[in-house]
Amino acid sequence: MRKKFPDWTLSREQPIFENQQNPNCHQGNCCMIFQERDLLLQNRSFVSSGLLFPERNVIAREFLGIYENRNCYAVLLQGCKGSADEAWTPMREVREVLSIKNYALVSRGLQLVEWTICQKHCGRCGGVNQRNGAARVCVTCGKEHFPPVAPSMIVLVYDGQRILLARSPGYPKDLYSILSGFIEPGESVEQCVHREVFEEVGVKISNLEYVASQPWPFPHSLMLGYLAQYSGGKIKTDPEEIEDADWYSINKLPLIPSMTTIAGWMIRRRQHDWGG
Ligand SMILES: [Zn+2]
Repeated sequence: MRKKFPDWTLSREQPIFENQQNPNCHQGNCCMIFQERDLLLQNRSFVSSGLLFPERNVIAREFLGIYENRNCYAVLLQGCKGSADEAWTPMREVREVLSIKNYALVSRGLQLVEWTICQKHCGRCGGVNQRNGAARVCVTCGKEHFPPVAPSMIVLVYDGQRILLARSPGYPKDLYSILSGFIEPGESVEQCVHREVFEEVGVKISNLEYVASQPWPFPHSLMLGYLAQYSGGKIKTDPEEIEDADWYSINKLPLIPSMTTIAGWMIRRRQHDWGG
């Protein structure tokens, strides 16, 4: 019998926070420390303890909840880089270093501290926002503000044993991936999948099938992964979005994203299912 392809890790390794309202644990703290969009790593771990930074450099601090019996915080600093033994690591690289579970933790932490500095004031009246549970509430007009999550879709388009891969201008050298795009206001995910595929590469698709999702902290997206069958049209790329796109045999692929990304996992799962 063929070996089963591994499940998408986020479906079974999601970290669970207890009590997200108040720190009440006395077994010590765990702290993830960010600066701009970099994370401070020590021995390939985000858990930074015993490090003291001047309070004036702390621009946001969020209590994330109790995790594995420790109060878990995310801290955003500015003006602190410099020491040679500090391993400030860009979030896109952190993904390749931490476990999926720990990456989910730091992804949540970064999004919350960034939300904190972006939501000091109410977007409706300019009043001061104060934290209230999961929200920030304007003390002047009472409007509630929640951390933003922007849904987007990512789609593996297939035609028999071929899949459609493309390069965006910002990708690492030689890397090809499946298509993705943000959902617009008033649009369903399915409508977005059809629209983005047609806009980016000019082909029509059918038989959409939802597969899995991945939070993506660049800056606060949630990617919903789909499979879609090619149903017509010739590849014609939108040069603003796509540098190159083509059909690839599932057994002969270019450089693709790693298994820590939903794109990399979906492509390899397809390879496995087709016996590649
Ligand atoms: Zn207000």
